[in-house]
Amino acid sequence: MLCLMEVANPYIFKIKPYVPGKPIDDVKRELGLKSVIKLASNENPFPPSPKVLSAMAAASRGVNRYPDGGCFVLRRALARKLNVDDDQLIFGNGSDELIVLAVKAFAAKGDDIIIAKPSFLIYEIASILSGARLHQVPLRDFHYDLEAMKAKINARTRIIFIGNPDNPAGTYVSQRQVEDFMRAVPKSTLVFFDEAYFEYVRAKDYPDTIALMKKYPNIMVTRTFSKMYGLAGLRIGYGIASRQVIDILNRLREPFNVNSIAQAAALAVLGDEPYYRNIAREIESQRQYLYRTLRAMNIPFEESFTNFILIQVGSDSTAVADALLKKGVIVRDMAAWGLKSHIRVSIGSPSENKRFIKTLGEVL
Ligand SMILES: *Cc1c(COP(=O)(O)O)cnc(C)c1O
Repeated sequence: MLCLMEVANPYIFKIKPYVPGKPIDDVKRELGLKSVIKLASNENPFPPSPKVLSAMAAASRGVNRYPDGGCFVLRRALARKLNVDDDQLIFGNGSDELIVLAVKAFAAKGDDIIIAKPSFLIYEIASILSGARLHQVPLRDFHYDLEAMKAKINARTRIIFIGNPDNPAGTYVSQRQVEDFMRAVPKSTLVFFDEAYFEYVRAKDYPDTIALMKKYPNIMVTRTFSKMYGLAGLRIGYGIASRQVIDILNRLREPFNVNSIAQAAALAVLGDEPYYRNIAREIESQRQYLYRTLRAMNIPFEESFTNFILIQVGSDSTAVADALLKKGVIVRDMAAWGLKSHIRVSIGSPSENKRFIKTLGEVL
């Protein structure tokens, strides 16, 4: 008799389970701390705007009904904002879901997928589960090595994931680099640009991937309401691609994958841009505060185009992350990503960042 462990999809056992940032309440309970701050999951430290909160309250009265599976109102508003057709959009239960759907749709055993190393863990997890062969191309000086990724392309390459900016490095690839790269990619390979941090990027040469889609219909772009728009707990992100690609993904998508409160909140976000522009400015000035203080403390870091910073803390990142945790500051130890002397710290509110800096000074 076979047991269930023996008959489960064998690829499952090749996956290192994703370890999320520790929740604040767990740390308080486990360590008996009164005040804990979390700078480990690149969340927005500010609450949703009053308009968004009231849209959520209004939508909550209708949760006895299933959500609109087609996200009709949100789709129309977002399509207008992005200047794309309605049927070029797909919504997901977080943009994570769209990564998984793309792999399911386009890659299977015997195919190839190319990602960077280190990179966002979901690309790796989704790829392994599909049975596809995964090529992990090391970053160079914390930047994508697109030449080396090009060299890995073959007739079986189905997907190339480009986190732009990627997590955990925080760096981006430019318009010129992307144009150059796309010329070398076969039309049968999906190039998946994960732009989860799009709204945080301030760089003149950041690529316009939506415009490039006209010339290269094998481009797919995802963005999210989790990071800049502070709806991480509601789980809603979206993808932009050609009508054909969206049609394929829609066949796989669960009919009610995006809940009604998330749809209402995302729609309200689109109608409240000034609130989020202010947050963007605040995060930007906090980024500069962290850069200044880290420089003054002689602690090296990577310049980031996101709401997190990769910081080099010396020899043992695990010891440093643990020591910070004991003092109530949750950050992400990068050892599991192969960066044994780095931590990743999300940019928090002004008081959180001050506490992080003070605690880091004590620990180092
Ligand atoms: C946070 C993050 C996402 C996903 O966020 P969702 O909450 O699933 O929309 C996707 N890609 C990268 C690189 C991220 O850091």
